[in-house]
Amino acid sequence: MMRRALITGITGQDGCYLARLLLDRGYEVVGILDDSRYSSLWNLSYLGILPMVRLLRVKLLDYIEVQRVLLEVRPSEVYSLAAQSSVSKSFQEPAVTIKANLEAVMNWLEAIRMLSPDVRLYHASSSEMYGNVTNACVEPTTLFNPISPYAVSKVAAHQLVRSYRTAYNIFAVSGILFNHESMLRKKGFFTRKLMDGALDLSTGSVSSLSFGNLDVRRDFGYAPDYVEAMWLMLHQGQPEDQLICTGKSVSLRDIVNHVFMRMNVSTDRLHIDASLYRPAEIEDIYGAPSYATEKLSWTSHYDAFGAMDLILEERLKLLHSGQVMPA
Ligand code: NAP
Repeated sequence: MMRRALITGITGQDGCYLARLLLDRGYEVVGILDDSRYSSLWNLSYLGILPMVRLLRVKLLDYIEVQRVLLEVRPSEVYSLAAQSSVSKSFQEPAVTIKANLEAVMNWLEAIRMLSPDVRLYHASSSEMYGNVTNACVEPTTLFNPISPYAVSKVAAHQLVRSYRTAYNIFAVSGILFNHESMLRKKGFFTRKLMDGALDLSTGSVSSLSFGNLDVRRDFGYAPDYVEAMWLMLHQGQPEDQLICTGKSVSLRDIVNHVFMRMNVSTDRLHIDASLYRPAEIEDIYGAPSYATEKLSWTSHYDAFGAMDLILEERLKLLHSGQVMPA
């Protein structure tokens, strides 16, 4: 029998790669577009899967609508990826972030509990939940210490998923994903800004590129690898949260230098703009990947620099084909 998966946030970076992976595995994929926003379908078109997915408009914050969709679609797996996913933006829009990132998850959990307790749910948690850790290497026992509204929203949703799993025996899990990047990163995120900027500097269409704090260090992987981990998490023997990471952190400065070098762009064009610093920032964080390797047989195939090389190669291909990415 054909398996059916429902993905919220299907228009985002992870949603698209996950949809492609599930289609490749023979799933019927239903993608949810949040009815309160205009979502570009460019990513789905770019991956060549737009005609293969069924898209439904739903008000994710309306519990009755979520119930209705669950009954109508009857998925075996729900991937709850929709979120206001920008840490920076969460400082400017804390209320939107908390509401969007917590209430939609709550609606899916509650609808599953009430109507279809056999449905498995994946929730997208984040390494941002840990804040400034004393030991930069995060283990499953590391305590949460969120320092942004985004991180607070993710901790709340994470604990809710855990509480439904414990209280109602629902197969609901959270993947605690560290940064993962791709060609499909949206405007406003570091990697996208870096790629756009390096290409513009190399063609001479801009003369400089400004960033905030480049001394922070993050654990970066490649998004298509990470969606594989999401699927594996819903197919574990026992429902368990997992850390999904590469096990190494690198500074944003090292990444900028790497991309500039590849593009033959001088770092003299780089400017640090203190107004772009976040009000609170995690200095250094990376995760211990051994648990996911042991439990899921999952491992990241690319480190930060490998991921950047792939993205750059794809961006150059797109540029030479004359296509442009959406604003
Ligand atoms: P993304 O590219 O920003 O995609 C987010 C998705 O959620 C898009 O479909 C977006 O719709 C939708 N969305 C945005 N704001 C929303 C709102 N206020 N209400 C409802 N839907 C909204 O994010 P991603 O990188 O794919 O990440 C997927 C999930 O993983 C998110 O929950 C994110 O927080 C989490 N996560 C990501 C990373 C990472 O490094 N990428 C790391 C840890 C956790 P539009 O297309 O209309 O914008």
